[in-house]
Amino acid sequence: MYRVNAPAVYVEDLVAKNPAYMAKVERVVAALETPVTPVVYSEADLPGLVAGGLLSGRGTMGLKATVPDPVLLFNTFKFDFERQARLDRLAAAGVEKPSRLDGVLGHCAFNWANYNKEGDPHRDDKVCRPCWRVHQQSGCLHKCSYCGLGGLLIAGVNTDEYCHWFGKLIEKHPWQLTYLLDDDADPPGLEPELGCLGELIEYFGTLKNRYLIIHTKTWNTEWMRNLKHNGNTILVWSISGPTQSRLIEPDTGTTDERIEAARIAQEAGYQIRYKFKPIIPVKGWREDAAYTAKRIFERTNPDVISICCFMWTNFTDLRGKLPLDLLEPEYLAAAEAAQEEMKETITRPFPQAVRAEIYRHHLREIRRWNQTVPVSMSTETFSIWKELGPEFGYKAGEYPCGCGPFTVPGAPKVECNPFVTAERLDNGEIPCCLPPFPKS
Ligand code: SF4
Repeated sequence: MYRVNAPAVYVEDLVAKNPAYMAKVERVVAALETPVTPVVYSEADLPGLVAGGLLSGRGTMGLKATVPDPVLLFNTFKFDFERQARLDRLAAAGVEKPSRLDGVLGHCAFNWANYNKEGDPHRDDKVCRPCWRVHQQSGCLHKCSYCGLGGLLIAGVNTDEYCHWFGKLIEKHPWQLTYLLDDDADPPGLEPELGCLGELIEYFGTLKNRYLIIHTKTWNTEWMRNLKHNGNTILVWSISGPTQSRLIEPDTGTTDERIEAARIAQEAGYQIRYKFKPIIPVKGWREDAAYTAKRIFERTNPDVISICCFMWTNFTDLRGKLPLDLLEPEYLAAAEAAQEEMKETITRPFPQAVRAEIYRHHLREIRRWNQTVPVSMSTETFSIWKELGPEFGYKAGEYPCGCGPFTVPGAPKVECNPFVTAERLDNGEIPCCLPPFPKS
């Protein structure tokens, strides 16, 4: 696993009582750089832990003077439909906004993402397909300056129960073929000591035509080689050029380390993919993109590549998230000038003309080495898809998306209408930590 200097380790009492779960924790604790004595807590202790700063390390890491490694917290996912009762108890104990503790309480195993359905505040502004998203962790070791997931890494260790409920989720949603794991964590970091990710990969190895997608910036895949994955796990690397990966994403794998990790996974029989995401237009981004595309195809053979500019940020918040002196001044000025034009879209701050230039350049560099691999724009607007779709060879409703829910290995074109076919079908029988969305 990574070299980790955890300032503290917390272990939920339900974990401490279970020898198999506790064995996972003990392996991680034994591998920490500096010895830490784990503190066992119960739900009743949470108000005190919150008052003592349990959540204080969260928040945009670029705004912090220093970013230590995160506190580790090991808990169990809850599948008992008691979420509201727990939140009510914490509120009664004086905890403000107790839903901030959903992750700590173990409520966030599975989330229905109602993209482009009724109730989605960004409906029609991004091309994502509705789907179930799944989580094993919340929090990360990587310290990307634009991210708020440092300070506390929560890992649910009851993978046996998790897989049992995952089976029910899959059974009720026959249309969903792939499941993106952890868009708010990077779970290979504590492996193989933790042992949860391997357990999940091997669970998927027992399934037919259902795939786990691990989204990561890791260098750490050697340990995956001998797992019984049966071709049912896909690894997608968020890939970035050398400047971005070294200076803005400091504890991730570098560009070459991520590609080497992908090569190892590919050699071990996993399908691998890449997302150039988020593309931050640093000075020299064109050369960095060219270098990265070349290295990808020299070393590996992805079945799909997605590209996506840095987004979801107001211009005024950019300074906290990114070191502005590293950015291409012309694009920074374009973002500043486009504040009014971009105020209604989540793809801000860079205007469409800038994003289109960046996408065309990446497409050219990829095509220099590979003429056929499907390339698509991830999380983008319908508007830019209308402009650039013909150059990519797809429409917004049919491109193979690197993270699913329909893109099985080999990345075939999506043949159904993904916005209609994807429906939540569990009638609330699958625990989900988000409020129920209106029927779509
Ligand atoms: S790898 Fe992802 S989750 Fe981890 S710090 Fe970077 S952006 Fe956040």
